[in-house]
Amino acid sequence: KAKEQGKGKACLFERWIEEEHHSLITREAELAEAIRKDQIGVHYQPIVDLKSHRIVSAEALVRWNHPTRGCIPPSEFIGTAERCGLMEELGEVVLRTACRDAMTWTTPIQVNVNLSPRQLRSGRFPEILAQALEASGLPSERLGIEITENVLLDQDDKTLRQLDSIRSQGAKLILDDFGTGYSSLTYLHEVEVDGIKIDAAFTSKLPEKKVAMIYRMIARLALDLNIYVVAEGVEEPSQMEWLNQNGIRFAQGYLLGRPAPSPPATRVEYLA
Ligand code: C2E
Ligand code: MG
Ligand code: MG
Ligand code: MG
Repeated sequence: KAKEQGKGKACLFERWIEEEHHSLITREAELAEAIRKDQIGVHYQPIVDLKSHRIVSAEALVRWNHPTRGCIPPSEFIGTAERCGLMEELGEVVLRTACRDAMTWTTPIQVNVNLSPRQLRSGRFPEILAQALEASGLPSERLGIEITENVLLDQDDKTLRQLDSIRSQGAKLILDDFGTGYSSLTYLHEVEVDGIKIDAAFTSKLPEKKVAMIYRMIARLALDLNIYVVAEGVEEPSQMEWLNQNGIRFAQGYLLGRPAPSPPATRVEYLA
């Protein structure tokens, strides 16, 4: 009896593996087709200067415009793209689209593009970046590349050389989701960056006392290092108030503007 049960379980397990494998292959094929068929879109979310109330940049956020399932968020397909070797191609599509779109905007603000560690694997990123700038005509100072600490886990020469090339080509380098990794402070002195974005996990707890102290410490450190600070995930007026009172200059979040397919506005409705 126990043996039978064991066999049943093995069968179930095999079927589970098969289904998992099958759906992975289906998803992979679907995503490859989406890239080919131009179903990859980019939304833009404003980053605001709290001092002037101006929108100073916009973050490019990938979307999959699926013919039947509608607009699919990156959390549902970036993982697949990374696992099945499609991330380099997907990232290039987003980069090219963002550079091209930014050229059509009436105000020459910066556009930020997220970079996955997989896009540094082949060593071709500097070339892909140069081509995207060249093809669009976007001045490199108007491009920001956002990297998370995952990118910096591989601190080999190849990775560091490619990161250097981003800045030597004139684009900005920004540390994204700052504070969520294991050794954020280490990276600050090992890689030259232009800005840091403090993760929404911290912002959402403002103005709680302990978090407020950590925020102030990071902002002070950034000021001393001559790098700018962006508060991510600002949703509440009370958070905005705290940021203003504590001299945090730049912010991004639903309160100030949601990601949208249209060009970012020039002014922020909430602040107007
Ligand atoms: P991220 O780079 O930290 O981007 C910010 C994410 O937070 C976006 O989610 C944005 O819509 C969301 N967000 C902004 N303000 C608020 C807020 O006030 N409240 C809340 N709850 N959320 C807010 P999205 O577009 O779903 O992207 C999620 C993540 O997927 C991004 O996090 C980024 O890591 C990744 N991602 C998006 N596009 C790309 C891409 O083109 N390439 C790569 N490699 N990763 C991307
Ligand atoms: Mg980002
Ligand atoms: Mg972020
Ligand atoms: Mg984040």
